Amino acid sequence: MNDTQMAPERVLVAGGAGFLGSHLCRRLLDEGHQVICLDSFLTGKRRNIAPLLDHPDFSVLRHDVINPIRLDIRPTRIYNLACPASPQHYQADPVHTLRTCVEGAFNLLEVARAAGARILQASTSEVYGDPHVHPQPEAYRGNVNILGLRSCYDEGKRCAETLFSDYGRRKHVRVKIARIFNTYGPLMSQSDGRVVSNFIVQALSGRSLTVYGDGSQTRSLCYVDDMIDGLTRMMESDESFRGPVNLGCPHESTVLDIARRIRRLVGADVPVEFRPLPSDDPIQRCPDILLARRHLDWWPRVGLDAGLQKTIAYFAQTVAAAPASPKI
Ligand code: NAD
Ligand code: UDP
Repeated sequence: MNDTQMAPERVLVAGGAGFLGSHLCRRLLDEGHQVICLDSFLTGKRRNIAPLLDHPDFSVLRHDVINPIRLDIRPTRIYNLACPASPQHYQADPVHTLRTCVEGAFNLLEVARAAGARILQASTSEVYGDPHVHPQPEAYRGNVNILGLRSCYDEGKRCAETLFSDYGRRKHVRVKIARIFNTYGPLMSQSDGRVVSNFIVQALSGRSLTVYGDGSQTRSLCYVDDMIDGLTRMMESDESFRGPVNLGCPHESTVLDIARRIRRLVGADVPVEFRPLPSDDPIQRCPDILLARRHLDWWPRVGLDAGLQKTIAYFAQTVAAAPASPKI
């Protein structure tokens, strides 16, 4: 820990073996904190945290957050990232996803209440559903199909925000809510079906890029290092600022643009193959990040080409080691 860093905290990272969670664990250890990674390993991978296992301040607890949580230590900070994030995974067992969002939030809030810890909820741009307001500010209440295939996740995350808000208001828990927009980078799963990992793995393997619909739907892609920076800034922000705060990149791209960009960066001469658009797939998504700029002095620093190049370099190694699953 250097002079500019804060005092060491005991940090519980639920979902710490996942894509964002493992980057967060590493960042917190680098800053001198003690980290407990709690994970059921539903979508998280042991290899994501393997380089951290020998660190004296790192420990792992295998646990499903839908069950009550008992810890030997009292954390001072809790990040709730425990939930599958890719549509393919959160739709595989929708009831468990909903329970993870709601009962998981409840169980972690109870730990925070008992320990007097600050707790941050990793919420999502999906709380806006298929938005009618563009770009989306935090005050927009969203357009979610409560009965759709994505609703186990969307409504679960909305309910979790309600729980956080009520624990803050009524039980005086120090809560923070961050709404994360599409994030990409090294350690993304090779086979969870997300757009960036799919296109990179397909391009590297010389296969066609699978664009769903006509590719005119938009997403705004944030590099993982920027996102981790935003999450830690939100956690340490002024106590009175509870959020929700949007964290994401305000530059929007169509899915077809993303496909062409990745094809160019990989240098692969592969065709685009159009496939049916999944139901309830949001047509436009882009964050308004005014609140993050104002309260956290945060905005994404890494440009899309630079971030994609780092991600391609990562996948170039993992694809060579383990060829892609035929599902994509
Ligand atoms: P991920 O699937 O890679 O990681 C999720 C982690 O949570 C995994 O390690 C998984 O094993 C664990 N987990 C899932 N259910 C659990 C349960 N019931 N009990 C304990 N552990 C459980 O996903 P990610 O991309 O790292 O996303 C992390 C968080 O950020 C999620 O809450 C997600 O909703 C949110 N988020 C991510 C994005 C993104 O673009 N990556 C966007 C919006 C929100
Ligand atoms: N998508 C696509 N081809 C793929 C994977 C995804 O065209 O191989 C599209 C998907 O339909 C969506 C966008 O890319 O419009 C982002 O999908 P992702 O699953 O990464 O995230 P989310 O839909 O949750 O934003």
